[in-house]
Order: sequence, then structure tokens, then C-alpha cells
Amino acid sequence: MAIFPQLEIPDTLAAGPGPGNTDLRVLQRFASAGVADHMQADVLRGMIECKLMLREVMGTANIHTFGVAGTGWSGLDCLFSAVLPGDSVVVFVNGTFSGIDGLTLRMKAATAEELAANPMDPQPASVRIVTVPHGQSVTGETVEAALAEHKPKWAAMAHWETGSGRTNDLRGFSDACQRHGAMGLVDAVSSLGVADFRIDDYPGVHGWASCPQKGICCLPLTYAPVSFSDRYVAELRRTGCRTFVHHPILEARHWGIIDGKDVEKGSYHRTHSAYAVAAFHEALRILLQQTVAGRARAYAFHEAALRDAVAAMGCKVTSDMTSLVVLNLPDTLKGREMELVQSCRAQGFGIWPTLSEPVQIRIGILNLLDRKAITDIVTRFAAAMTAMGADIDTARITERLEEHYQATVAAE
Ligand SMILES: *Cc1c(COP(=O)(O)O)cnc(C)c1O
Repeated sequence: MAIFPQLEIPDTLAAGPGPGNTDLRVLQRFASAGVADHMQADVLRGMIECKLMLREVMGTANIHTFGVAGTGWSGLDCLFSAVLPGDSVVVFVNGTFSGIDGLTLRMKAATAEELAANPMDPQPASVRIVTVPHGQSVTGETVEAALAEHKPKWAAMAHWETGSGRTNDLRGFSDACQRHGAMGLVDAVSSLGVADFRIDDYPGVHGWASCPQKGICCLPLTYAPVSFSDRYVAELRRTGCRTFVHHPILEARHWGIIDGKDVEKGSYHRTHSAYAVAAFHEALRILLQQTVAGRARAYAFHEAALRDAVAAMGCKVTSDMTSLVVLNLPDTLKGREMELVQSCRAQGFGIWPTLSEPVQIRIGILNLLDRKAITDIVTRFAAAMTAMGADIDTARITERLEEHYQATVAAE
């Protein structure tokens, strides 16, 4: 049995749909937390403070607002936990991630027979998947029509579909859920901490889940924010659900939420890490210091600069998210998307292809909100396209970028 050398991981420019670049302040808190157990007083206090800051970040008075240890899918598993076999569900799918949300919901709503019939990809009769083509948004009309027809108990949608970079109509979704009595569940993995919205402004949505690694910028594997309305919790109390670890009522206990009330001190649910709590706490502090609205403005501003630059290189942008640009290469480079992505990645410039058809390129700016970072991305992307034979006037593109930044400086 070999003992391998220490694992070295280089610093790269992580310019993908996620993870975002974790702030040095967060890494520092992570590395300097003392050795303490999960019931130590400051760890428990930190969790209570995180819970309170999270309510602010999410814009909610929901008592059941806390973090689920793990990644975005951990939060989503908790979000979907109240969906039981045989439950009627309508899911709107317009890309890779909402597609996986749909799979998760099909697994949860399948009866034992339906699951056994196709264990990895069950097709329960009670779940309706409404597919919207890649590159398009889910509209309020689409949601309205499907909910009017099927009158489901649950409806689910991604707020921002990171697979195709499209933003979906949250207002239309919430309104339609209210009109038709469905309980809305939203995958806000990509939008929380990037878009300026308050979840309490969407009363048709009863459960939300996000992630640590995107808008919250807290990858040192920490917490996926979740929030549940009183109605969701009441329904869960009535029906129960088949998980201990991701049970929204039980998991909330460690965050000091017991019997629907905030209590002074959490009680054991699982072994939380002092390091993770310290990191998450700092990430939330940074977000609130910058403000959700301030960060949303910065994303919109820098995304516009990147979008303009890649369009000037002859690429066609098909996304409308502010943390991510999804594009088609110019016709002369069509079909060479993977080659381009791989050559960038080999040079420590981490951009991404789409994960499902059609093949497109995704360039993200999570926590890369300054002129230097955007210029670096644009320059490296232009160089990679040029190396593949594209005819790009790099000087003109740099000039446009300059103009974008000068114009705002002047406007301020
Ligand atoms: C990234 C993402 C996920 C998955 O998050 P992980 O942190 O990889 O578990 C789910 N849904 C959406 C919309 C995402 O963007």
C-alpha cells in the first residue's frame, strides 16, 4: 500500500457556473477555528447567528430557515423530503439541474412498484415533467397552464437554470401556485446571493433550497441554505417523511429551532464542524456587509462587460443570468467547443461546457467582481479562440472593456 505525496492543488481561475471563488476571509476563518466539538457554546452560538443572518440574506420571517450540511443537492434533498410516494407533482425542466430536480422528485414520488420498475429513472404516474427547450426560460404562462390542468399538491422549478443560464419566472410561478393551491418548491441554488430578491415576496413558494458554493461563496464544504413556510412544516408534521438526516423539522433542532420556535441553544442532530460553522458565518457576514442588492448590482454590471466582450468576438450569448454567460462559438469554430474548453482548462482557466445537449460554452463570474478579473477572463478567452484560428481584434475588445468601465466610473 503506497502512501501518496501530499496533495497539491494549484490556484486556478475558476470561471465556471460554480463553484465560485471562496473569499480569503472565509478560508482564513475556516483554517483558524479552534478544535471544538459540535455542542461547544461558541459553535452553537455561531449556528444561531448564521440562522439569523440567513433569514436576512433570504429575506424571510420563516422560522424554519437554516443550513443543511453538504452541497446544493443536500439542501434540495431536504427541500423535497416532504414529497411522498404517490404525491402529485408538476416539475418544470429547462436544463441539466432542473432535470436532476425532476429525477429527485420522481424518485421520491414513485410508489414502491414504480421505483422497482425503473430504479435509476422511475416514471411515476403522479409526476408530470413539463419540459421547456434548452436555452429558453420557464414562463408564467407555462406554469399557469400546467397547474390549471393538473392541480398538483406540489410544483417545482429552478429559479435560475445554471445548465443553460436561463432565469425563470418566479413571480409567475408563485402566483400560479397560489391560484391553484399547489405548494411551490424552488431550487434557488444559483440565484441566492446573486439576484436581489426576498423569498417572502413569493407566497406561493413554501420551500426553498440553495447551496454554499455559488452566490454564498463558501465552498469549504459548508451549508446549503433552506427555508420552509409554516404551511410546509404543518404539512410535514401531518404526513411525516422518510429521512432522519434531512428531515426539515429534526435537522432544524441543531440550529435552535424547536417546536416551531427559536430557542436559545441548539440540540444535537448531527456532528457539525466548528470549521464549517466559522466559514459559513464569515461568508454570510461578507454578503450582508456588501448587501444582497449591492452584490446583485455588481453582478449585473460585470456580466454586461463580459457579455459585450464575447459578443464582440463573434460569439452568440443565449443566457440571461448575471453570474454566467452561456454562448455559441462563431460558425467558423462550431463543433470545437470541447476542444476550446479543454485547452483553457489545461492552462488553469476553468470554463465549462454545457453538461447536456446542445454543446455550448459557459463562463461564470462568481465572486470575480472586479475589472481586473473580468479583463483576465476576456483576455484569456480571446487568446484561446485566437489559438484555434479565430480572427479577433483583441485591441478593440480591450478598448470596449475599457469604455464599459470608464463610463461607469464617470457616471458615479
Ligand atoms: C449547482 C446547482 C445544483 C447542484 O449544486 P451542488 O452544490 O453541485 O450540489 C443544483 N441546482 C442548480 C440550479 C445549480 O445551479
